[in-house]
Amino acid sequence: MGAPFLWSWSRHRLFSHCQREYWFHYYGARNGWRPEADPRTAEIYRLKKLSGRSQWLGLLVHEAAATVLRGLLWRRPEDEAALRATLLADARQAIAIARGQAPAPDRGPPVRFLALELGEDPGDAGWEETLADLALRFDDLMVHPVMRRLRQVPGRMIEIDRLRKVRLDGLRLYVAPDVLVDDGEGGRVIVDWKTGRSHDPEVVARQMAVYAWWVAQYDGIPVDRIKGLQANVPGREHLTVSFDSTLVDAVRSLATESIAAMVAPLPDPRRDQAPESAFEPRPVGDPACDRCRFRGPCGRADPRSDPKSDS
Ligand code: SF4
Repeated sequence: MGAPFLWSWSRHRLFSHCQREYWFHYYGARNGWRPEADPRTAEIYRLKKLSGRSQWLGLLVHEAAATVLRGLLWRRPEDEAALRATLLADARQAIAIARGQAPAPDRGPPVRFLALELGEDPGDAGWEETLADLALRFDDLMVHPVMRRLRQVPGRMIEIDRLRKVRLDGLRLYVAPDVLVDDGEGGRVIVDWKTGRSHDPEVVARQMAVYAWWVAQYDGIPVDRIKGLQANVPGREHLTVSFDSTLVDAVRSLATESIAAMVAPLPDPRRDQAPESAFEPRPVGDPACDRCRFRGPCGRADPRSDPKSDS
């Protein structure tokens, strides 16, 4: 029987980190946006939507990359200086709104930062550093060797930052390669922008192997004709990843086992509904709880206490 949900690496990571945090994210927050939501559900939903600063910067850089590349693909190149200015102005405004220094936008929810929720406002200087970091990442992205190469062959780009729901070997998964490119020789190149500070090449290869698995099945291309390019920003470095059937098989097994572990606590595996108590919290006193966004509803605002249960 298949899982009643779509698997992704982020889902797997969260489940591996803390099952109770996973429950808050995927079950406890459900329908928390509705006006009739009960206060706890509404609060869990609000906390789920908080953004970490580096996560937010990464999202902005990915969106900027997609905007530039779509402009090239559609033969309507972006004015990159104007794009940079808008990116930084919008980011500055988002920070001012989040800090209560500017009115909330008329449309769309404002960005809310986890740091502010935790009472860790880095102050004016800290936010200026954040904006400088964003400018650096944008500038490095625009001159990155991988971006330069894509500019030379815009017509070969097949997919740009498109989230897909796919079925692979009976499993349902999310895949979202940043860029999928025809290599001009019957193969494919998968580009992944990495905006964090450090990356383990083996972990990156496993993450990208899911994309290779999908490309091999949907395009009928042998997996050894598919390459991954992990492009790091800030910086100008990139890492080339080769795939083979052993790596893809290992990732397929991992996804299968991960899904089985996530389905096991569900009372009815055909329905994606779960009681909170079925998903274990981390041990009392675990340092991971100190920086968890769900400390309040979990009952860990005081780190010595036990989390709440719905049982
Ligand atoms: S506070 Fe701790 S136990 Fe509770 S969800 Fe967060 S990490 Fe898990």
